[in-house]
Amino acid sequence: MANDVEGFTEIRYEAPAVRVARIVLARPDRRNAQDMKMLYEINRALDIAMHDDEVRVVIIAADGPHFSAGHFLGDDGKIGDFGPPVLGGGGYELPGPEGHVAKEQEFYLGFCWRWRNLPKPTIVQVQGKAIAGGLMLVWPFDLIVASDDAEFSDPVVAFGTNGHEFFVHAWELGHRKAKEMLFTGEAIGAEEARTLGMVNHVVPREQLDGFTLALAEKIAQRPTIGLKLAKMSVNQSLDAQGMWSAVQSAFTLHHLGHAHNQVVHGMIVDPEGAEIIRKQAKASKPKTAG
Ligand code: ZN
Repeated sequence: MANDVEGFTEIRYEAPAVRVARIVLARPDRRNAQDMKMLYEINRALDIAMHDDEVRVVIIAADGPHFSAGHFLGDDGKIGDFGPPVLGGGGYELPGPEGHVAKEQEFYLGFCWRWRNLPKPTIVQVQGKAIAGGLMLVWPFDLIVASDDAEFSDPVVAFGTNGHEFFVHAWELGHRKAKEMLFTGEAIGAEEARTLGMVNHVVPREQLDGFTLALAEKIAQRPTIGLKLAKMSVNQSLDAQGMWSAVQSAFTLHHLGHAHNQVVHGMIVDPEGAEIIRKQAKASKPKTAG
């Protein structure tokens, strides 16, 4: 049962079951690459779900063969075009790293951390590829269900920076696997991600919707207060170990990379990065079975 609200064009907001909301990335024509409009729509849809006391669990899903190809590079949107800034702070159009940091702080790092701390349980279901910024629509959420063809990668070290802006790689994968993923740019398959503890369940592609919905309905039997407190308690366990400090410090290093590239290459990323990634993708066999 689709329930389009708010005039969304990049996503859909659905009510697939009692107490469950579902936000679907709806731009398979560009492999759900995220522009600013899509990110603001996701943020607004999450707010709708949080403010609806009938909703207890939120699913994040995606249309098409791939979950998300990352950031949409042709994005010419400006902060403020799609509603008021969420974190505030301003300075988004100032020249140099000052404006660039302010922008990425708002709709990359800021959104991810905000979504990670929303009070209701969130489940993301992933099929196909989730690349770089694509992981920023996966890792902020509480549970991850992957179809057996899912692949997770962050190849942006090739662009001369540490990784995407929500730097929780070591928390998600363990430090050794995180380094390998970043150093090589290679994808981690669904089953490997499950053995690493990054993914909760791997299911056949055709069962992804049904399995995730059943999991959401099971969770939605519980009272909101219990769910909220359990979520906060786990999050605070990570925060007590320094997660937020580590994420912020990696974000500043990310911007050291951008600033370096701007000086050396005249652009915020190393222009040879795309070629390195393209060559490697050609040379390596697909990791998926079937
Ligand atoms: Zn960046």
